[in-house]
Amino acid sequence: MTPETITVDYLIIGAGATGMAFADALLGESGHTMAVVDRHHAPGGHWTMSYPFVRLHGPSNVYGVHSRAMPSDSTGASLASRNEVLDYYDRIMRDVLVASGRVTYLPMHDIADVHAGRPAIARARSLVNGATTRIVVRKRVVDASYVNVTVPAMKRPGYDVEDGVPVVPVNQLVELGGAPERFTIIGAGKTGLDACLWLLNQGVDPDRIRWIAPRDAWLVNRSHEGAVSQFRELTSLHGHDSVGDAIAALEELGLVIRRDPAVTPSAFRCATVSSTELEQLRRIENVVRMGRVRRIDSAGVVLEAGTVATPPGTVYIDCSADGLTQKPPRPVFSDGAITVQTLLPCLVAPSAAVIAKLEALDLDDTTRNALAPPAPNPRAARDLLSFYGTRMERLHRWSGTPALFDWLCGSRLSAALFDLHEMADPDNRAAASAIAAHLDDVLKRDDVTV
Ligand SMILES: Cc1cc2nc3c(=O)[nH]c(=O)nc-3n(C[C@H](O)[C@H](O)[C@H](O)COP(=O)(O)OP(=O)(O)OC[C@H]3O[C@@H](n4cnc5c(N)ncnc54)[C@H](O)[C@@H]3O)c2cc1C
Repeated sequence: MTPETITVDYLIIGAGATGMAFADALLGESGHTMAVVDRHHAPGGHWTMSYPFVRLHGPSNVYGVHSRAMPSDSTGASLASRNEVLDYYDRIMRDVLVASGRVTYLPMHDIADVHAGRPAIARARSLVNGATTRIVVRKRVVDASYVNVTVPAMKRPGYDVEDGVPVVPVNQLVELGGAPERFTIIGAGKTGLDACLWLLNQGVDPDRIRWIAPRDAWLVNRSHEGAVSQFRELTSLHGHDSVGDAIAALEELGLVIRRDPAVTPSAFRCATVSSTELEQLRRIENVVRMGRVRRIDSAGVVLEAGTVATPPGTVYIDCSADGLTQKPPRPVFSDGAITVQTLLPCLVAPSAAVIAKLEALDLDDTTRNALAPPAPNPRAARDLLSFYGTRMERLHRWSGTPALFDWLCGSRLSAALFDLHEMADPDNRAAASAIAAHLDDVLKRDDVTV
């Protein structure tokens, strides 16, 4: 059977937060046509598979797409639930993208292969009926799946489990029934934090919760974010010439917080909590810091640095997926292709929208790439410096290109860059650039592994 053929200017692979923000901004800034292809049945990427009680951990007013606000409370700063996020993306897909008449949406389709060229030819295969759609791409193939988020429901745990031992993915926490006597939470990332907070909010006594946390991580303090002009605050880091000192200063400023006052975190993965949530988390005292889990059997847990026994009646909740993978950076713009990556660490939505805006501007790819250097997501504590330094550097870089700066200042997504509008003042621009250079310098000079 001859496959159906469609011809578009852009093929966007992935309808997660990245693909949606890119498609929406390109639609608004150009007259081009697009096909958006995704394996899932609905737009929203990993949100379609996340645990039911997940919420945004950053405010709703900086998440989503450029053209429409995500429903929120009057402050704009509430944290949308999974259902709200999915409903939002569903409406954007139907009412904005498809309704424009310029976007073809193919859910439940896998991009099987792409032949580069002018035009490029891709094949999208239906995961339901197996039919293939041939997609002729006149301009670019946009990979909006490169960031590659993994949530626990997408993979098996990376450790062995003896048959019969109750280890369940976090998605099933709401379905356990029978009020287990004890819980062991495995993983100290955003998902592990969420699972602990959810149990505490359900009234589970903290003594019934054991938390396996391979590494303590610095947490972004949501209660502080946006409170004060960030680049002015960061200016005070000029006096701090080692990574450890600079991190101590960030803590002193209240930008980042630690879960346990007695433990210096060695990781940073952009997880964000409010001071109220932090207070709750500190109620859990049984925290196991013995590295990663290797095996769980009926006696207990075998970890990298030893073994802990498990009392009967314990249910293990697996929260160990690495939601924030680190991919090697590559040029965003290349011949016939765009690889969407974070330009601001951890902030996929504004990053993808900026990339779309750059594509719509009359620039060459060398200039576009100079304005869009990828910023890998953080892992170690020292990456806190590049997290804040990159934000300052991007403020400086983007405010020097009026066509981008003016658009970004008018975009709802720019709320993620707290001080953007202040960059119209050359002194402020210079201050942002200086702090970025200082933090970069500290990182280069001080290569201790914190
Ligand atoms: C629990 C959790 C909470 C988070 N909260 C926030 C937050 O509050 N604020 C924030 O800024 N960030 C947050 N993040 C960070 C997160 O990275 C982004 O929010 C974002 O959802 C990532 O979207 P994405 O489109 O890059 O990836 P994904 O959601 O993984 O989407 C990629 C899509 O590509 C599709 N795809 C891949 N390959 C193919 C193929 N060959 N053919 C067809 N389709 C394909 C997949 O089906 C998928 O739908 C959170 C992350 C997690 C895990």
